[in-house]
Parts: sequence; C-alpha cells; structure tokens
Amino acid sequence: MNLIPTSCYNCNILDSEYYDDENGYTYVKCVKCGLVYLNPRPANEEISAANESGLHKGENEINITGFYSEKKVNRYLKILSHFYNKNELASKMNWLDIGCGFGEFMESIVAYSNSNLEVNGSEPNMQKVDSCKKRKLHVDFIDLYAHYKTYNFVSLLNVYSHIPNPKEFLKKIKELLKPGGELFIETGHSSHLPAKYHHKPYYAPDHLSFANQVIVEEILKRIGFNIIKTKIYRHQQFISIDSIKSFIYYCYKFFIKRDLSIAEIFPKFPKRDMYIRAKLVDDPKE
Ligand SMILES: [Zn+2]
Repeated sequence: MNLIPTSCYNCNILDSEYYDDENGYTYVKCVKCGLVYLNPRPANEEISAANESGLHKGENEINITGFYSEKKVNRYLKILSHFYNKNELASKMNWLDIGCGFGEFMESIVAYSNSNLEVNGSEPNMQKVDSCKKRKLHVDFIDLYAHYKTYNFVSLLNVYSHIPNPKEFLKKIKELLKPGGELFIETGHSSHLPAKYHHKPYYAPDHLSFANQVIVEEILKRIGFNIIKTKIYRHQQFISIDSIKSFIYYCYKFFIKRDLSIAEIFPKFPKRDMYIRAKLVDDPKE
C-alpha cells in the first residue's frame, strides 16, 4: 500500500510528536492544536475505495461493514430528544444523513419526527445501501457537489474521523444547506487524552484522525456555524450495564470468569462520544 506523509488539517503544520501505533500504522499528535492523526496514511483513492468496499488493509485486513442494529435506533431516539423539540422538525423540511450506514439514524429521525420530515441518506458501501433499500429507506451514494442549498438538516455520524480533511469537507457540507440550515455531527472527544487512556482499538487505518470538542467547535465557528448545543456521552466501546441481563452477564465475567477489570467497568474518562448541533450563521447577502 502507498503511504503518504501528511500534516495537521487544522493548523496546516507538520510539527507533531509520536502518539501511538496499531495495525502497522502510526498516530501522531499535532504540537499546536493537539489533533491526533494517522501519519503517514493511505492515499485518498485507497481511502475512498476502502469506504466503498468496507475493507481496510493493514497488517491485518479489517472488515468495517458491520450489521444493522435496532439498539442503535433506540439510542439515537434518546439522543435526538436531548437536542430537538419535536415541533422543530416540522413537515416540508428535509434531512440528509451522510455516511448513513445501515440507516439506523435515519429510522430514528423518521420516528422522532412522526414521519414529518423527508429523510434521505448517502452511503458509499453498497452492502449497506442494499440493506437500507430493503427497509424502504431513501439511500444512495449522492454527489455532494450536485446538491446546492438543498437541505434543512445534514448529519454526519461516525464520519468525521474517516475523512482525510474534515475542515474542507465541512465547507462542502455547508453548501448543501438552505439558509438557516443545520448540521448535526457526531465524533469522538478524545485527542486531549494520553494514548494510555484512549479507547482501543483505534481502527487504523480506518480512523484517520481523532479530535475533541475544542477542535471541532472552533472549525465549525471558523467556517460559519453557530454552536447550538454540544453533549458528550459515554463511549460505545466501553461496556454499559443498561439492563438486568447485561448486569448478570458482567457480574459473571467479573466474579466467575475474572476476565473483566474495574477499569473496563469504570474507565477513567468515559465520556467521549460527542454530538454537536450547529446552525449556519445568517448571511446578510441572502
Ligand atoms: Zn493542529
């Protein structure tokens, strides 16, 4: 595989220090803003090809296609209720979910808005697109350049870390929004943590960078968004005891099998799954 040296997309500087490595790849930390990013990294064409096929190559090839999860739909419904009043999602509005995967977030928007919103998804992985279509979701891999000022809402969940240059990508996303349009973005809040405390695996080379609240909010403000709300949740890679069944299961693992540690149950920095609701700054020229 072709590996290409890269700089921090946030500061455009090369100065960085070693952070950690995995799967034959190295993560470095920008000395200025603290962004953690893969360096060197696969060429852009290889990244796109991997996103389309769901296969990434490293010392071990990893399949990132995954599967549909109803549990995710319920989790997203809860998160939506923390960010939006139902009356804000009125009819005649539309929502585009970019990198919609198996469509769980789309399903939660449809349910939360009582089917009032027109919900569309864009996804490069054909297996995921087919799965969405079977569940009657409107999903395709759309040309983002062809959709100028089209949407009231655009969301990016678990997409940010996969993009070679999120700053430039977000500028492109901005063009998709109607005046007063909104962005809903989910990514990790973890680049400020020492590597020792970072959740693992990193999924290198699939995750190209790890940011945090300060970095992402500053980028959004710089390119013309107001931050409406940010909320940070317990990370999905940590175990969560959310039912009697899971309580019994983890008690068994902890007391009987003894393959679960206190640090896994109570991680030092559990909150790192970040959601941001941002709105386009009014443009006086509109
Ligand atoms: Zn930087």
